[in-house]
Amino acid sequence: AKHTGNGSINVYDQTVKQQKYLDDLTLEIELMKAIQSEELTVYYQPKIHSQTGHVNVEALVRWFSQSLGTIPPSVFIPIAEKSPLIEKVTERVVTKVCEDITRFPDIFEKTITSINLSSTMFDEKIVQNSIVSIIKKYGLTPDRFELEITEYTLMKDVERGKETIDFLRGLGFRVVIDDFGVSYSSLNYLKLFSLDGIKIDQSFVQQIDNEEESKEIEIVTFILMLAQKLGLHVTAEGVETESQLTILTDLGCDELQGYYLSKPMAIDALYHASEQASDLIVGQRRTLYLDI
Ligand code: C2E
Ligand code: MG
Ligand code: MG
Ligand code: MG
Repeated sequence: AKHTGNGSINVYDQTVKQQKYLDDLTLEIELMKAIQSEELTVYYQPKIHSQTGHVNVEALVRWFSQSLGTIPPSVFIPIAEKSPLIEKVTERVVTKVCEDITRFPDIFEKTITSINLSSTMFDEKIVQNSIVSIIKKYGLTPDRFELEITEYTLMKDVERGKETIDFLRGLGFRVVIDDFGVSYSSLNYLKLFSLDGIKIDQSFVQQIDNEEESKEIEIVTFILMLAQKLGLHVTAEGVETESQLTILTDLGCDELQGYYLSKPMAIDALYHASEQASDLIVGQRRTLYLDI
């Protein structure tokens, strides 16, 4: 270790770094085991059309580790992305989704399921091997799925980004930008890539009904106007209050997603929710709340 006036800082830093490394390594090893087991599963969060009430869902990976407890995707996905583990995780997610679609055909009949695609998976061959081949194995087609990619994914290589998006859409997948608006050149992405839609980041949505901070409503209004002109479908994520729901619906946002409407839930809960709310699909806004 380097010696400075106060050497303990360096030693401390190093210890923290080592600890972090060990933690990451532990997680990586545990995750490797979890992939083979039921510890790694998928929850579904409904996305509800503001006009028709039609429900689509987003698949969100969940890890209920026996030895480590519940570990959120924000912790283990970044670690998985540093290795080929992310492909295994995605294959597990896609397989579970395909199993659920096959097991509950009624729920998924008219439902498009969104899958989050890591930037490291954004490659024709990888998608072909890890996603398309699994879907095919279950006799399903890409038009049942939407792929959510982040702005960060597209930032790295524009030409390759274009090609990959065209390839994916050519296969029949819908492709949307997740967490739209948080990167510094969001508008550029709308210009450069042909997409099906965008998901407005929850940081805008959650401030939209904040009386003091009125900028977000102007920004979201602008995004919606622009998206409409460009023929893009817009989903708002992170809707947590009734007033957010009302404002977004009145502004013409196509699809709404958030805890106020429904939390992510296991397939069994989704099944019961869809049974209880069979008029959900055609109902008014009031009947859309899935109280889980
Ligand atoms: P994301 O794709 O932007 O997903 C939205 C996140 O916000 C989810 O967190 C969801 O549970 C949460 N959320 C939904 N509604 C609300 C709300 O009203 N308020 C608040 N505060 N949060 C809400 P989750 O499931 O923990 O996932 C976090 C991130 O991890 C996801 O962000 C996505 O980037 C990544 N992720 C999740 N599942 C997968 C997966 O299967 N593959 C990959 N590559 N990434 C995944
Ligand atoms: Mg997402
Ligand atoms: Mg998002
Ligand atoms: Mg997000």
